[in-house]
Amino acid sequence: MIFTTLPCGEAVPVLGQGTWNMGEDRRLAGQEADALRLGIDLGMTLLDTAEMYASGGAEEVVAEAIAGRREKVFLVSKVLPSNASRRGTEAACERSLRRMGVETIDLYLLHWRGGHPLADTVAAFEALKAAGKIRHWGVSNFDVDDMQELAAVPHGEAVQANQVLYNLARRGIEYDLLPQARAHGLPVMAYSPVEQGALAGDRRLAAIAARHGVTAGQVALAWLLGQAGVIAIPKATRAEHVRQNRAALDLVLAPEDLAEIDRLFPAPRSKRPLEMI
Ligand code: NAP
Repeated sequence: MIFTTLPCGEAVPVLGQGTWNMGEDRRLAGQEADALRLGIDLGMTLLDTAEMYASGGAEEVVAEAIAGRREKVFLVSKVLPSNASRRGTEAACERSLRRMGVETIDLYLLHWRGGHPLADTVAAFEALKAAGKIRHWGVSNFDVDDMQELAAVPHGEAVQANQVLYNLARRGIEYDLLPQARAHGLPVMAYSPVEQGALAGDRRLAAIAARHGVTAGQVALAWLLGQAGVIAIPKATRAEHVRQNRAALDLVLAPEDLAEIDRLFPAPRSKRPLEMI
């Protein structure tokens, strides 16, 4: 595995696993937990979940996947903006801990900006840290101006990651948000790294992939993993996809591949508002 560092200095894997849509159907939970376990065994030990996913069902799948191997995993979960008041954040965290059967969340994120003052959410995060319920906190779907506002809040500088939509079809953050994050040593967690499967079906990427004997999805992921300070969290329920995603880390794209990718998916030349899924 390859690692990047959080601002606090802790190393985290650059390739993790998402869990959105897991836990929706209890009959599939076993298969979903198996996929996560396979990924953990392959080194993709960063697991991303949220109280929102299947209304807690995804966190229950995570519980099943990490039973007996908690110490191997870097666990990320998120509080809903509607719960992100001073007291609401702490209560939501307790519920997530209970669902996952753990004593601590490694990284707890505000899922997106809502109506509660940022200062209250950050105060709650700091209290949870002091109580040992979370080890670090961060944000998600924050654009450049949101990050600037966060920096002005007491303890705002303790933020450890910003999780945003980033993939070949969504390169907007390269204009400003990604350079800003890099300047602060803040990892960007790229969600929907294969555009929810769409990039895996891209014929142009398939042509590049054929030169390497891999798939289009792997090219999309390898490109993302080539960006400094970026952590990718693909979600995969099929074992074949889990293995392919891990193998994408070993795929080295040639300069001519990268040039072709830039022609097909141009980098932004002006500010684009942060996109969300
Ligand atoms: P994604 O990871 O881009 O795509 C998932 C889809 O792609 C699944 O249908 C999966 O199929 C398929 N897939 C995965 N690997 C593949 C491969 N190698 N080849 C072909 N298909 C592949 O989309 P996502 O789930 O939206 O994003 C990933 C994670 O980011 C989420 O699960 C969630 O944890 C997080 N997220 C966060 C936010 C936020 O607001 N913070 C928003 C969206 C997502 P199978 O499942 O059938 O294997």
